[in-house]
Amino acid sequence: MYQIQLDVKLGFVELFSPMESYMKTYNNLYINGQWTAPNSNEAIEVTNPANEQVIGQVPLANADDVDVAVKAARAAFASWSTTSADERAAYISAISSKLAERSEEMAQTITAEMGAPLGFSREVQVEDPIDALARHADFTSLVDEEKKLFNIDIVKEPIGVCAFINPWNYPLHQMIGKVAPALAAGCTMVVKPSEITPLHAFLLAEVIDQVGLPAGVFNLVSGYGQGCGEALCVHPDVDMVSFTGSTRAGTRIAQLAAPTVKRVCQELGGKSAFVICRDSDLEAAVRMGVDDVMYNTGQTCTALTRMLVHKDQLEQAIAIAKEQAEAFVFGDPLSEDSMAGPMASMSQREQVLKYIQIGLDEGARLVTGGVERPEGFDKGAYVRATIFADVSNDMRIAREEIFGPVLCIIAYEDEQQAIAIANDSPYGLSGRVWHNNKAHAKQLARQIKAGQVYINDGFWNNQAPFGGYKQSGNGRELGQIGVEEFFETKALIQS
Ligand code: NAD
Repeated sequence: MYQIQLDVKLGFVELFSPMESYMKTYNNLYINGQWTAPNSNEAIEVTNPANEQVIGQVPLANADDVDVAVKAARAAFASWSTTSADERAAYISAISSKLAERSEEMAQTITAEMGAPLGFSREVQVEDPIDALARHADFTSLVDEEKKLFNIDIVKEPIGVCAFINPWNYPLHQMIGKVAPALAAGCTMVVKPSEITPLHAFLLAEVIDQVGLPAGVFNLVSGYGQGCGEALCVHPDVDMVSFTGSTRAGTRIAQLAAPTVKRVCQELGGKSAFVICRDSDLEAAVRMGVDDVMYNTGQTCTALTRMLVHKDQLEQAIAIAKEQAEAFVFGDPLSEDSMAGPMASMSQREQVLKYIQIGLDEGARLVTGGVERPEGFDKGAYVRATIFADVSNDMRIAREEIFGPVLCIIAYEDEQQAIAIANDSPYGLSGRVWHNNKAHAKQLARQIKAGQVYINDGFWNNQAPFGGYKQSGNGRELGQIGVEEFFETKALIQS
């Protein structure tokens, strides 16, 4: 494989401060291979949601900064798009290796900026995306594949300059889900992390700088959606916008990108169903379903927030779910005992409390949790793990994405009704079916209108194409199909 000389600048790698005193200030954006002063002196403060303390600061980029970054990406595209597959694979491998060396720093950064427990950050928020990145080295030759049809050669080309706009819940994972396939395909990019969790993206930029990726291939701007994000969506020199976030912002982005006819990929919200069939291991299924909603404090777009249980097993399922939720330890992200931390921000806490109140007002039965602060947490964005039963699928808590540790249990009468309830949603991101007969479970899974459906206790695989049906989005990320999103198709027609 093509070898790259690592360009580690002496004195560049700062000693990492211990978590208790975490503080990181970035004054520059990363544009055209340089740490570049922004056009204004304004900054965004980053707050640790566990203790509400400011832990960092990044520049507030404006439309002029975006323009400079897009121009750098455009200039770099000419040569980057013609690099060999081996060369791009070597860069991807070098970035993933360097990132692995700094994985502890990355885990601590993500824990500090969004509150995930450190163990969860290490394993899920950092190790998994590094693995996903490394695997993209295998996809760099896809763009070179040609197909012949009669007198036509069908070839692929990288689409061009990409703008990536990301959320805060799995920040590195979502960043890698876009950066890795773009690098593999031969595209250049400008990335904008969420204003809530920008620090991990600066660390990624440091790693990319250390590796010596050619100038302009990767550019980082930090800012809010309305200024910086919208400037990316309307920029005439951006060919593709890939966005992960709320359906509200996703539709706005598509509208902004429409006049310049950009390709728009949207990874949006979800309200996924877990169909627990009568013939299932009820206890295992319910416990798994509760954990699925509680991990990452419910801030998982694929979370199975609607648990569908046969009416004859309802009370048994509720009792198991209550026990499982009450044993799930929410606490200080730095404590080894914590299985989940606070919400990622105080405003997300408000959003979740608002929905718990809506559930109470709608007449759902509160099995556990509620709107009160969890005992022992006077500060921070903590909420209680909450389960509602007697939920009907037309309630707002069953239709709208809450994005917190709130589970709705819904009773059904037969399997076909369960599938109908699962599909009666504006969303279609994920789902799960549990039936002791795997072949039957697969048949049911085929009937669920969602981009990923897990069968029994099947688990996450970062090679599986990821994306949504309906208002959960357009396009797929990860694996080979994720890379193909970054291609244009050209027909060369022979005489
Ligand atoms: P959000 O939509 O508020 O923000 C996401 C990003 O979009 C941020 O970087 C923000 O600055 C930017 N943004 C907001 N408005 C914009 C605008 N008008 N123009 C350009 N950019 C804009 O979402 P969030 O609160 O950060 O994230 C939570 C949401 O993300 C949830 O709905 C969740 O389901 C969804 N999500 C989806 C997936 C998926 O892959 N399907 C993954 C994670 C999160």
